[in-house]
Amino acid sequence: MSKILLLEDDPQVGQVLYTALEQKGHRVFWAKKAGEALERLATADLLTLDLGLPDMDGVEFMTEARRVRPRLPVLILTARDDEETKVYCLEIGADDYMTKPFSINEFIARVAALLRRAYGAPKIKVGPLTMDTHSHSALLDGRQLKLSKTEFSLLYTLASNPGRVWSRGELIERVWGLDFDGTDRVVDVYINMLRKKLGDDPRSPEFIETVIGVGYRLFELKRSNPTVF
Ligand code: CA
Repeated sequence: MSKILLLEDDPQVGQVLYTALEQKGHRVFWAKKAGEALERLATADLLTLDLGLPDMDGVEFMTEARRVRPRLPVLILTARDDEETKVYCLEIGADDYMTKPFSINEFIARVAALLRRAYGAPKIKVGPLTMDTHSHSALLDGRQLKLSKTEFSLLYTLASNPGRVWSRGELIERVWGLDFDGTDRVVDVYINMLRKKLGDDPRSPEFIETVIGVGYRLFELKRSNPTVF
């Protein structure tokens, strides 16, 4: 289940996309105007953006979306199929682009691909660690780890990209959200709690490595890539 912000002023197209996304189990906020969508940018997991909007140019909205959410996955939907628009949208940071009319199945597949690329698959296995977001379960060598929602989300973020170094700011954006107004220290506190639950020794960690001056990463355990189910 992801939070999808659907910005589409055409009632028929919007209804079809809304229904298809809901059927896939997503929570969808359908905005028919840019103004309504701006308020929802902070909490969305993915934005699908129609470029032809009544109250704001879609390209302008895209620029604003990138300013507020630099890493939010964005799929642009538009009737404009000129090369200039496509290139410009990609240049200002859209992750994918579909020209109307398009197939709903392809739309759903592209949304799923963007979510997977940004947040990892619902179920992942890295070395002895298996995590499943649907059942909120984390197993280490088959043993269930008792993790809070925040601990789970933090470990899942690290485990979905083993070897990738995350800055504290990136982890805060991903795990706590943009409205979080505490300090970076919260990341260190939660990493310590996770290490305890994983049985990791901070002086010679096996799981979570501190990258001095940068942030944290999960070791590429047994050099395995995450297995996607
Ligand atoms: Ca439109």
